[in-house]
Amino acid sequence: MKNFKIVTYGCQINEYESEKFREALLSFGYNEVEKDEDADLILLNSCAVREKANLKLLSKIGRIRKLFEKQGHPVSVVTGCVASVNEQAIKRVGEKSIIALFKGYESLDDRVKKLRKLLSVTGEKKISLVQKVFAYVPIIYGCNDFCSYCIVPIAKGRERSRAKVEILEEINTLVKNGAQEIVLLGQNINHYGRDLGYKNGFIEMLEDVDKIPGLKRLRYLTSYPADFTLSVLERMRKLKKLCSHFHLPVQSGSNKILKSMERGYTREQYVELINSVRILFPYASITTDIIVGFPGESEKDYNETKSLVEYAQFDRSFVAAYSKRPNTPAAVMEEQIDEKEKKKRLNDLLSLQNAISLKKNRFFIGKTVEILIESIVGAQAFGRIPQDKLVIVEGCTARVGDIIKTEIVDADFIHLRGK
Ligand code: SAH
Ligand code: SF4
Repeated sequence: MKNFKIVTYGCQINEYESEKFREALLSFGYNEVEKDEDADLILLNSCAVREKANLKLLSKIGRIRKLFEKQGHPVSVVTGCVASVNEQAIKRVGEKSIIALFKGYESLDDRVKKLRKLLSVTGEKKISLVQKVFAYVPIIYGCNDFCSYCIVPIAKGRERSRAKVEILEEINTLVKNGAQEIVLLGQNINHYGRDLGYKNGFIEMLEDVDKIPGLKRLRYLTSYPADFTLSVLERMRKLKKLCSHFHLPVQSGSNKILKSMERGYTREQYVELINSVRILFPYASITTDIIVGFPGESEKDYNETKSLVEYAQFDRSFVAAYSKRPNTPAAVMEEQIDEKEKKKRLNDLLSLQNAISLKKNRFFIGKTVEILIESIVGAQAFGRIPQDKLVIVEGCTARVGDIIKTEIVDADFIHLRGK
Protein backbone atom coordinates (compact mmCIF):
# COMPACT_ATOMS: atom_id res chain seq x y z
CA MET A 1 0.00 0.00 0.00
CA LYS A 2 1.88 3.06 -1.16
CA ASN A 3 -0.35 5.50 -3.00
CA PHE A 4 -2.86 7.70 -1.25
CA LYS A 5 -5.58 10.18 -2.04
CA ILE A 6 -7.40 12.50 0.34
CA VAL A 7 -10.97 13.62 -0.25
CA THR A 8 -12.21 16.51 1.89
CA TYR A 9 -15.78 17.70 2.33
CA GLY A 10 -16.75 20.40 4.76
CA CYS A 11 -15.34 23.27 6.68
CA GLN A 12 -11.93 24.89 7.02
CA ILE A 13 -11.07 22.73 10.03
CA ASN A 14 -11.43 19.69 7.78
CA GLU A 15 -9.16 21.32 5.23
CA TYR A 16 -6.58 21.97 7.91
CA GLU A 17 -6.77 18.43 9.23
CA SER A 18 -6.57 16.92 5.74
CA GLU A 19 -3.39 18.89 5.18
CA LYS A 20 -1.92 17.42 8.38
CA PHE A 21 -2.89 13.89 7.30
CA ARG A 22 -1.32 14.60 3.94
CA GLU A 23 1.96 15.67 5.56
CA ALA A 24 1.86 12.55 7.74
CA LEU A 25 1.25 10.20 4.80
CA LEU A 26 4.04 11.81 2.79
CA SER A 27 6.39 11.40 5.73
CA PHE A 28 5.37 7.73 5.96
CA GLY A 29 6.74 7.39 2.42
CA TYR A 30 3.40 7.37 0.61
CA ASN A 31 2.82 9.07 -2.75
CA GLU A 32 -0.13 11.29 -3.45
CA VAL A 33 -2.18 10.41 -6.54
CA GLU A 34 -5.09 12.13 -8.24
CA LYS A 35 -7.37 9.28 -9.27
CA ASP A 36 -9.29 7.00 -6.95
CA GLU A 37 -8.33 3.95 -8.98
CA ASP A 38 -4.60 4.66 -8.58
CA ALA A 39 -4.83 4.95 -4.81
CA ASP A 40 -4.26 2.11 -2.39
CA LEU A 41 -5.57 4.21 0.43
CA ILE A 42 -8.28 6.86 0.29
CA LEU A 43 -8.74 9.07 3.32
CA LEU A 44 -12.22 10.57 3.46
CA ASN A 45 -12.46 13.55 5.75
CA SER A 46 -16.02 14.70 5.90
CA CYS A 47 -18.47 16.94 7.65
CA ALA A 48 -21.84 16.04 9.19
CA VAL A 49 -23.27 19.49 9.74
CA ARG A 50 -25.85 19.15 7.00
CA GLU A 51 -27.61 16.10 5.68
CA LYS A 52 -26.46 16.93 2.14
CA ALA A 53 -22.77 16.51 3.02
CA ASN A 54 -23.56 13.20 4.64
CA LEU A 55 -25.30 11.89 1.53
CA LYS A 56 -22.43 13.06 -0.65
CA LEU A 57 -19.99 11.10 1.49
CA LEU A 58 -22.10 7.94 1.45
CA SER A 59 -22.34 7.99 -2.33
CA LYS A 60 -18.57 8.46 -2.57
CA ILE A 61 -18.02 5.50 -0.24
CA GLY A 62 -20.35 3.44 -2.45
CA ARG A 63 -18.21 4.23 -5.50
CA ILE A 64 -14.99 3.38 -3.68
CA ARG A 65 -16.46 0.07 -2.60
CA LYS A 66 -17.19 -0.81 -6.23
CA LEU A 67 -13.54 -0.11 -7.09
CA PHE A 68 -12.46 -2.23 -4.16
CA GLU A 69 -14.61 -5.10 -5.38
CA LYS A 70 -13.17 -4.77 -8.89
CA GLN A 71 -9.50 -4.17 -8.13
CA GLY A 72 -9.01 -5.39 -4.56
CA HIS A 73 -8.02 -1.84 -3.67
CA PRO A 74 -8.42 1.03 -2.85
CA VAL A 75 -9.42 0.82 0.75
CA SER A 76 -10.55 3.78 2.76
CA VAL A 77 -10.28 5.42 6.13
CA VAL A 78 -13.06 7.76 7.17
CA THR A 79 -12.63 10.65 9.56
CA GLY A 80 -14.14 14.02 10.48
CA CYS A 81 -17.43 14.84 12.19
CA VAL A 82 -19.26 12.29 10.15
CA ALA A 83 -17.25 9.40 11.57
CA SER A 84 -18.48 10.33 15.04
CA VAL A 85 -22.17 10.32 14.25
CA ASN A 86 -22.83 8.06 11.31
CA GLU A 87 -20.70 5.02 11.91
CA GLN A 88 -23.34 2.43 11.08
CA ALA A 89 -24.40 3.85 7.72
CA ILE A 90 -20.76 4.32 6.70
CA LYS A 91 -19.91 0.73 7.56
CA ARG A 92 -23.01 -0.56 5.82
CA VAL A 93 -22.27 1.26 2.58
CA GLY A 94 -18.51 0.66 2.71
CA GLU A 95 -18.46 -2.95 3.94
CA LYS A 96 -14.96 -4.44 3.64
CA SER A 97 -13.49 -1.47 1.79
CA ILE A 98 -13.36 0.59 4.97
CA ILE A 99 -10.44 -0.28 7.18
CA ALA A 100 -10.90 2.31 9.90
CA LEU A 101 -13.06 5.11 11.26
CA PHE A 102 -11.38 7.89 13.23
CA LYS A 103 -13.90 9.92 15.18
CA GLY A 104 -13.89 13.66 14.66
CA TYR A 105 -13.77 14.40 18.38
CA GLU A 106 -10.48 12.53 18.88
CA SER A 107 -7.45 14.76 18.80
CA LEU A 108 -5.69 15.14 15.50
CA ASP A 109 -2.45 13.81 17.01
CA ASP A 110 -4.21 10.67 18.20
CA ARG A 111 -5.75 10.11 14.79
CA VAL A 112 -2.42 10.56 13.01
CA LYS A 113 -0.86 8.08 15.47
CA LYS A 114 -3.65 5.59 14.74
CA LEU A 115 -3.08 5.95 11.02
CA ARG A 116 0.62 5.31 11.52
CA LYS A 117 -0.14 2.15 13.46
CA LEU A 118 -2.79 1.00 11.02
CA LEU A 119 -0.35 1.27 8.14
CA SER A 120 2.45 -0.37 10.20
CA VAL A 121 4.81 2.48 9.44
CA THR A 122 8.28 1.85 10.80
CA GLY A 123 10.34 4.89 9.86
CA GLU A 124 9.47 8.43 8.95
CA LYS A 125 11.20 10.71 6.53
CA LYS A 126 11.55 14.45 6.59
CA ILE A 127 9.51 16.18 3.93
CA SER A 128 9.69 19.69 2.66
CA LEU A 129 6.37 21.39 3.17
CA VAL A 130 4.59 23.16 0.38
CA GLN A 131 4.77 26.90 0.67
CA LYS A 132 1.33 28.36 1.29
CA VAL A 133 0.17 31.93 0.82
CA PHE A 134 -2.48 31.52 3.46
CA ALA A 135 -2.93 28.92 6.14
CA TYR A 136 -5.66 27.83 8.54
CA VAL A 137 -4.78 27.38 12.19
CA PRO A 138 -7.37 25.96 14.60
CA ILE A 139 -7.12 27.52 18.04
CA ILE A 140 -10.14 25.93 19.69
CA TYR A 141 -11.85 22.62 18.89
CA GLY A 142 -15.42 21.57 19.65
CA CYS A 143 -18.34 23.63 20.89
CA ASN A 144 -20.31 24.08 24.11
CA ASP A 145 -23.20 26.07 22.69
CA PHE A 146 -25.64 23.35 21.70
CA CYS A 147 -27.79 25.34 19.30
CA SER A 148 -30.86 23.15 18.96
CA TYR A 149 -30.29 22.27 15.27
CA CYS A 150 -26.58 21.61 15.40
CA ILE A 151 -24.61 18.39 15.47
CA VAL A 152 -21.18 19.96 16.02
CA PRO A 153 -21.09 19.60 19.84
CA ILE A 154 -21.98 15.91 19.43
CA ALA A 155 -19.62 15.28 16.53
CA LYS A 156 -16.67 17.34 17.75
CA GLY A 157 -17.17 17.23 21.50
CA ARG A 158 -16.75 19.99 24.08
CA GLU A 159 -14.52 23.03 23.76
CA ARG A 160 -10.80 22.38 23.92
CA SER A 161 -8.45 25.31 23.40
CA ARG A 162 -4.98 24.63 22.09
CA ALA A 163 -2.10 25.92 24.18
CA LYS A 164 -1.08 29.42 23.26
CA VAL A 165 2.63 28.64 22.82
CA GLU A 166 1.83 25.76 20.50
CA ILE A 167 -0.38 27.99 18.32
CA LEU A 168 2.13 30.84 18.16
CA GLU A 169 4.93 28.42 17.34
CA GLU A 170 2.89 26.92 14.51
CA ILE A 171 2.07 30.36 13.08
CA ASN A 172 5.68 31.50 13.34
CA THR A 173 6.81 28.44 11.38
CA LEU A 174 4.10 28.98 8.75
CA VAL A 175 5.10 32.62 8.34
CA LYS A 176 8.80 31.71 8.12
CA ASN A 177 7.85 29.27 5.35
CA GLY A 178 6.13 32.01 3.38
CA ALA A 179 2.54 32.23 4.69
CA GLN A 180 1.38 35.83 4.51
CA GLU A 181 -2.14 35.37 5.75
CA ILE A 182 -3.32 33.34 8.73
CA VAL A 183 -6.92 32.33 9.35
CA LEU A 184 -7.55 31.34 12.97
CA LEU A 185 -10.32 28.77 13.36
CA GLY A 186 -12.84 27.75 15.99
CA GLN A 187 -16.57 26.95 16.11
CA ASN A 188 -17.05 29.70 18.64
CA ILE A 189 -13.71 31.40 18.42
CA ASN A 190 -14.71 34.08 20.92
CA HIS A 191 -14.49 31.36 23.57
CA TYR A 192 -10.81 30.74 22.96
CA GLY A 193 -8.98 30.10 26.23
CA ARG A 194 -12.02 29.92 28.52
CA ASP A 195 -11.21 26.30 29.35
CA LEU A 196 -7.61 27.34 30.08
CA GLY A 197 -8.72 30.02 32.50
CA TYR A 198 -8.04 33.05 30.25
CA LYS A 199 -10.51 35.88 30.57
CA ASN A 200 -9.85 37.64 27.28
CA GLY A 201 -8.20 34.78 25.43
CA PHE A 202 -9.57 35.51 21.97
CA ILE A 203 -8.62 39.16 21.67
CA GLU A 204 -5.25 38.53 23.36
CA MET A 205 -4.54 35.82 20.82
CA LEU A 206 -5.36 38.20 17.97
CA GLU A 207 -3.08 40.80 19.54
CA ASP A 208 -0.22 38.30 19.86
CA VAL A 209 -0.57 37.03 16.29
CA ASP A 210 -0.84 40.57 14.97
CA LYS A 211 2.69 41.20 16.25
CA ILE A 212 4.31 38.32 14.38
CA PRO A 213 6.92 39.79 12.02
CA GLY A 214 6.44 38.97 8.37
CA LEU A 215 2.73 38.23 8.72
CA LYS A 216 0.66 40.48 6.47
CA ARG A 217 -2.96 39.56 7.09
CA LEU A 218 -4.94 38.02 9.90
CA ARG A 219 -8.48 36.57 9.78
CA TYR A 220 -10.60 34.41 12.08
CA LEU A 221 -13.69 32.22 11.84
CA THR A 222 -16.31 31.89 13.34
CA SER A 223 -17.46 34.37 15.90
CA TYR A 224 -20.57 33.91 17.94
CA PRO A 225 -22.69 37.08 17.95
CA ALA A 226 -23.71 36.79 21.61
CA ASP A 227 -20.08 36.66 22.73
CA PHE A 228 -18.80 39.65 20.81
CA THR A 229 -18.35 42.53 23.23
CA LEU A 230 -17.81 46.18 22.53
CA SER A 231 -14.46 46.07 24.29
CA VAL A 232 -13.26 43.32 21.92
CA LEU A 233 -14.33 45.47 18.95
CA GLU A 234 -12.48 48.45 20.42
CA ARG A 235 -9.31 46.42 20.89
CA MET A 236 -9.59 45.03 17.36
CA ARG A 237 -9.41 48.56 16.01
CA LYS A 238 -5.81 48.81 17.17
CA LEU A 239 -4.64 45.76 15.24
CA LYS A 240 -2.60 46.37 12.13
CA LYS A 241 -3.05 43.12 10.25
CA LEU A 242 -6.60 42.16 11.08
CA CYS A 243 -8.70 42.16 7.91
CA SER A 244 -11.81 44.29 7.89
CA HIS A 245 -14.25 41.44 7.56
CA PHE A 246 -16.77 40.20 10.12
CA HIS A 247 -18.47 36.86 9.68
CA LEU A 248 -21.39 37.01 12.11
CA PRO A 249 -23.82 34.11 11.68
CA VAL A 250 -27.31 35.32 12.56
CA GLN A 251 -29.29 32.18 11.54
CA SER A 252 -32.69 33.92 11.74
CA GLY A 253 -34.23 37.37 12.00
CA SER A 254 -37.17 36.20 14.10
CA ASN A 255 -36.91 36.32 17.89
CA LYS A 256 -39.27 33.37 18.20
CA ILE A 257 -37.01 31.22 16.00
CA LEU A 258 -33.78 32.49 17.57
CA LYS A 259 -35.14 31.42 20.93
CA SER A 260 -36.14 28.02 19.67
CA MET A 261 -32.67 27.67 18.08
CA GLU A 262 -31.20 28.53 21.51
CA ARG A 263 -28.88 31.08 19.98
CA GLY A 264 -28.80 33.22 23.11
CA TYR A 265 -29.34 36.62 21.49
CA THR A 266 -32.26 38.58 20.10
CA ARG A 267 -32.66 40.26 16.76
CA GLU A 268 -32.28 43.61 18.52
CA GLN A 269 -28.99 42.57 20.15
CA TYR A 270 -27.68 41.33 16.82
CA VAL A 271 -28.66 44.59 15.12
CA GLU A 272 -26.88 46.51 17.88
CA LEU A 273 -23.75 44.47 17.23
CA ILE A 274 -23.68 45.15 13.51
CA ASN A 275 -24.45 48.82 14.12
CA SER A 276 -21.36 48.96 16.33
CA VAL A 277 -19.29 47.20 13.68
CA ARG A 278 -20.46 49.69 11.05
CA ILE A 279 -19.54 52.64 13.26
CA LEU A 280 -16.16 51.32 14.38
CA PHE A 281 -15.19 49.74 11.05
CA PRO A 282 -16.84 51.77 8.30
CA TYR A 283 -15.05 49.87 5.51
CA ALA A 284 -15.61 46.37 6.86
CA SER A 285 -17.61 43.74 5.06
CA ILE A 286 -20.14 41.73 7.05
CA THR A 287 -21.19 38.22 6.10
CA THR A 288 -23.55 35.78 7.76
CA ASP A 289 -25.03 32.27 7.89
CA ILE A 290 -28.79 31.79 7.77
CA ILE A 291 -31.01 28.76 8.15
CA VAL A 292 -34.43 28.87 6.48
CA GLY A 293 -37.28 26.48 7.20
CA PHE A 294 -36.38 25.83 10.83
CA PRO A 295 -39.25 23.98 12.60
CA GLY A 296 -42.06 26.40 13.39
CA GLU A 297 -40.81 29.10 11.00
CA SER A 298 -43.99 30.80 9.80
CA GLU A 299 -44.28 33.07 6.80
CA LYS A 300 -44.08 35.97 9.26
CA ASP A 301 -40.87 34.62 10.85
CA TYR A 302 -39.35 34.13 7.43
CA ASN A 303 -40.24 37.68 6.45
CA GLU A 304 -38.46 38.90 9.57
CA THR A 305 -35.31 37.17 8.34
CA LYS A 306 -35.74 38.89 4.99
CA SER A 307 -36.18 42.28 6.60
CA LEU A 308 -33.06 41.72 8.68
CA VAL A 309 -31.07 40.84 5.55
CA GLU A 310 -32.34 44.05 3.97
CA TYR A 311 -31.46 46.09 7.02
CA ALA A 312 -28.02 44.54 7.56
CA GLN A 313 -26.99 44.75 3.90
CA PHE A 314 -24.72 41.74 4.27
CA ASP A 315 -21.96 41.40 1.73
CA ARG A 316 -22.75 37.73 1.54
CA SER A 317 -25.05 35.21 3.23
CA PHE A 318 -24.47 31.48 3.38
CA VAL A 319 -28.07 30.30 3.33
CA ALA A 320 -29.01 26.72 4.16
CA ALA A 321 -32.35 24.95 4.25
CA TYR A 322 -32.80 23.41 7.69
CA SER A 323 -32.00 19.71 7.79
CA LYS A 324 -32.69 17.31 10.67
CA ARG A 325 -29.56 16.09 12.41
CA PRO A 326 -29.65 12.97 14.57
CA ASN A 327 -29.96 13.47 18.34
CA THR A 328 -30.51 17.23 18.15
CA PRO A 329 -33.58 18.79 19.84
CA ALA A 330 -34.81 20.47 16.64
CA ALA A 331 -35.05 17.14 14.82
CA VAL A 332 -37.98 16.10 17.01
CA MET A 333 -39.71 19.48 17.17
CA GLU A 334 -43.25 19.70 15.90
CA GLU A 335 -44.13 21.81 12.87
CA GLN A 336 -41.32 20.64 10.62
CA ILE A 337 -41.45 22.67 7.41
CA ASP A 338 -42.27 21.04 4.13
CA GLU A 339 -39.20 20.50 1.85
CA LYS A 340 -40.82 22.38 -1.01
CA GLU A 341 -41.46 25.39 1.18
CA LYS A 342 -37.88 25.32 2.48
CA LYS A 343 -36.56 25.31 -1.04
CA LYS A 344 -38.84 28.19 -1.99
CA ARG A 345 -37.59 30.28 0.94
CA LEU A 346 -34.00 29.34 0.19
CA ASN A 347 -34.23 30.53 -3.40
CA ASP A 348 -36.17 33.61 -2.46
CA LEU A 349 -33.60 34.64 0.16
CA LEU A 350 -30.71 33.90 -2.17
CA SER A 351 -32.13 36.15 -4.85
CA LEU A 352 -32.55 38.98 -2.33
CA GLN A 353 -29.00 38.44 -1.06
CA ASN A 354 -27.52 38.23 -4.56
CA ALA A 355 -29.02 41.60 -5.43
CA ILE A 356 -27.50 43.11 -2.27
CA SER A 357 -24.13 41.42 -2.93
CA LEU A 358 -24.11 42.81 -6.46
CA LYS A 359 -24.75 46.31 -5.19
CA LYS A 360 -22.09 45.95 -2.49
CA ASN A 361 -19.53 44.64 -4.97
CA ARG A 362 -20.26 47.30 -7.57
CA PHE A 363 -19.47 49.90 -4.93
CA PHE A 364 -15.80 49.00 -5.49
CA ILE A 365 -15.83 49.88 -9.20
CA GLY A 366 -13.38 52.70 -9.86
CA LYS A 367 -11.61 52.17 -6.52
CA THR A 368 -8.07 50.93 -6.11
CA VAL A 369 -7.78 47.96 -3.77
CA GLU A 370 -5.01 45.80 -2.37
CA ILE A 371 -5.05 42.08 -3.07
CA LEU A 372 -2.94 39.16 -1.97
CA ILE A 373 -2.45 36.89 -4.99
CA GLU A 374 -3.47 33.33 -4.15
CA SER A 375 -3.26 31.69 -7.55
CA ILE A 376 -2.55 32.36 -11.20
CA VAL A 377 -4.26 30.52 -14.02
CA GLY A 378 -3.13 31.52 -17.50
CA ALA A 379 -3.35 35.27 -17.77
CA GLN A 380 -5.65 35.61 -14.76
CA ALA A 381 -4.56 36.22 -11.19
CA PHE A 382 -6.86 35.52 -8.24
CA GLY A 383 -6.60 37.31 -4.93
CA ARG A 384 -8.64 38.71 -2.08
CA ILE A 385 -9.15 42.14 -0.65
CA PRO A 386 -9.17 42.42 3.17
CA GLN A 387 -12.99 42.40 3.03
CA ASP A 388 -12.68 38.82 1.74
CA LYS A 389 -13.98 39.42 -1.76
CA LEU A 390 -12.33 37.55 -4.59
CA VAL A 391 -10.76 39.69 -7.29
CA ILE A 392 -9.86 38.41 -10.74
CA VAL A 393 -7.13 40.41 -12.44
CA GLU A 394 -6.56 40.10 -16.16
CA GLY A 395 -3.09 40.36 -17.66
CA CYS A 396 -1.33 40.46 -14.31
CA THR A 397 2.42 39.91 -14.16
CA ALA A 398 2.63 39.55 -10.38
CA ARG A 399 3.43 36.24 -8.68
CA VAL A 400 1.60 34.13 -6.13
CA GLY A 401 2.17 35.68 -2.69
CA ASP A 402 2.56 39.23 -3.98
CA ILE A 403 0.37 41.95 -2.54
CA ILE A 404 -0.57 44.30 -5.36
CA LYS A 405 -2.80 47.26 -5.99
CA THR A 406 -5.41 47.01 -8.69
CA GLU A 407 -8.23 49.18 -9.93
CA ILE A 408 -11.64 47.54 -9.92
CA VAL A 409 -13.30 47.84 -13.31
CA ASP A 410 -16.26 45.50 -12.99
CA ALA A 411 -18.12 43.32 -10.48
CA ASP A 412 -20.77 40.63 -10.34
CA PHE A 413 -22.41 39.29 -7.18
CA ILE A 414 -19.47 37.02 -6.37
CA HIS A 415 -16.32 38.55 -7.87
CA LEU A 416 -14.65 41.86 -8.49
CA ARG A 417 -12.59 42.36 -11.63
CA GLY A 418 -9.39 44.35 -11.57
CA LYS A 419 -7.03 45.58 -14.23
N1 SAH B 1 -20.07 27.63 14.74
C1 SAH B 1 -20.64 28.36 13.70
C2 SAH B 1 -21.13 27.54 12.53
C3 SAH B 1 -21.11 26.07 12.56
S1 SAH B 1 -21.99 25.16 11.37
C4 SAH B 1 -21.78 29.20 14.23
O1 SAH B 1 -22.20 29.05 15.33
O2 SAH B 1 -22.25 30.03 13.51
C5 SAH B 1 -22.01 26.17 9.94
C6 SAH B 1 -23.38 26.58 9.52
O3 SAH B 1 -24.12 25.46 9.11
C7 SAH B 1 -24.22 27.22 10.60
O4 SAH B 1 -23.93 28.56 10.79
C8 SAH B 1 -25.62 26.99 10.12
O5 SAH B 1 -26.08 28.07 9.34
C9 SAH B 1 -25.48 25.73 9.25
N2 SAH B 1 -26.13 24.59 9.91
C10 SAH B 1 -25.78 23.97 11.05
N3 SAH B 1 -26.66 22.99 11.36
C11 SAH B 1 -27.59 22.99 10.38
C12 SAH B 1 -28.77 22.22 10.13
N4 SAH B 1 -29.17 21.26 10.96
N5 SAH B 1 -29.49 22.50 9.01
C13 SAH B 1 -29.09 23.48 8.16
N6 SAH B 1 -28.01 24.24 8.35
C14 SAH B 1 -27.25 24.00 9.44
FE1 SF4 C 1 -23.24 24.59 16.19
FE2 SF4 C 1 -24.15 26.62 17.63
FE3 SF4 C 1 -21.79 25.51 18.22
FE4 SF4 C 1 -22.06 26.97 15.98
S1 SF4 C 1 -22.25 27.70 18.09
S2 SF4 C 1 -21.06 24.97 16.18
S3 SF4 C 1 -24.14 26.48 15.35
S4 SF4 C 1 -23.78 24.53 18.37
